[in-house]
Amino acid sequence: MTSTDSPDCLFCKIVAGDIPADVVASSDTAIAFRDIAPKAPVHVLVVPKEHYPDVPAFAASDPEGLAGVVALADGVASDLGDGQHRLIFNTGPKAGQTVFHVHAHLLAGGELPGFA
Ligand code: IMP
Repeated sequence: MTSTDSPDCLFCKIVAGDIPADVVASSDTAIAFRDIAPKAPVHVLVVPKEHYPDVPAFAASDPEGLAGVVALADGVASDLGDGQHRLIFNTGPKAGQTVFHVHAHLLAGGELPGFA
């Protein structure tokens, strides 16, 4: 499935440039843009340009693409901070996923709270 196969997908529209976003980096296969409601000093979403609903589907179909998302996130963390960062993929509504185009939340900048 490609991004053009999901015309109602918010992140496909951002990838296509149809909805504005604060893009901080991109590669051939992924883009990184600031989250509209940041939860950390640096809160960037890293998304593949191709549409997959969640990270298990993405990993199963395109493991190299997933590695590319991780690499792009690592580069952004170094460009915008000291390189230390947290990546979160929410999978499913009960886990907090609200946009069903796979995306990594890149959180960085200062001390991040630990998990209980
Ligand atoms: P999820 O809850 O893991 O699916 O994350 C979706 C994220 O997308 C949330 O953190 C939202 O704040 C963010 N978001 C929603 N709409 C936009 C937008 O138009 N631009 C940037 N981020 C967005």
